[in-house]
Amino acid sequence: MKHQIERIQAAFLNPDTAKPEDRHNAWLAEIHPALKMRISKRARRLALRLDHDGRTMHLVVPVRFSVRKAQQFALEHREWIASKLAEAPPPIPFTDGALIPILGEERSVQVIFNPDRKITKVELSPGLLRITTNRDDPGSRIVRHLKNEARATMAGLAQEKAALIGKSVKEVQVRDTKSRWGSCAPDGRICFSWRLVFAPWEAMDYVVAHEVAHLAHMNHSAAFWRQCAALSENYESGKNWIRNNGAELMRYG
Ligand SMILES: [Zn+2]
Repeated sequence: MKHQIERIQAAFLNPDTAKPEDRHNAWLAEIHPALKMRISKRARRLALRLDHDGRTMHLVVPVRFSVRKAQQFALEHREWIASKLAEAPPPIPFTDGALIPILGEERSVQVIFNPDRKITKVELSPGLLRITTNRDDPGSRIVRHLKNEARATMAGLAQEKAALIGKSVKEVQVRDTKSRWGSCAPDGRICFSWRLVFAPWEAMDYVVAHEVAHLAHMNHSAAFWRQCAALSENYESGKNWIRNNGAELMRYG
């Protein structure tokens, strides 16, 4: 007797779609509009993973897994998926009067519209993020400014921590990462999510300590975690905050 089970792997061979996952969009959307599929070579079992921003749920499917089983799994977790996605914190745009934590301090956003200005000026001072602009939407200018603040702060912190263990940081970049807060290349280049600028101080400090500790240990061994704890100001609370509240960082702007 032959069972006809469609294999996920077969999707790779289908030349009609750009991404093999895309052909499953219809039934995924029926379960939840924010449910997407990710086919993973590393995954051993089916899993549901929420994005950092809390707005997309990924159904992680190992290669060669049956679509029917994946579908059944997602259906069984339908209510759980909906409840998790409903927990996403609402966005907070950079509008006049908004309260936004920046570099460990709550700041009130002040937008001053001035049609005579040539360029948008963004100033960060205690308790305040002041924007003087001739633009209707200065959002991209604000982000650019905050990215620079984030990069400068984390680069300084990374150099300091690296010096403590006799290592050097080659370069620090900030990016718009979705799935990780930081990464470290073997040649000493470190990359962070610029959105850590919205994190409490100990959480940013922990992420920097984590990546710097990778300069000494390119793994997550016990020795790595000891190094990471030693380089962190407040290891426990920083690590816990980022694990439990990461979605908070994605809501601003
Ligand atoms: Zn790591």
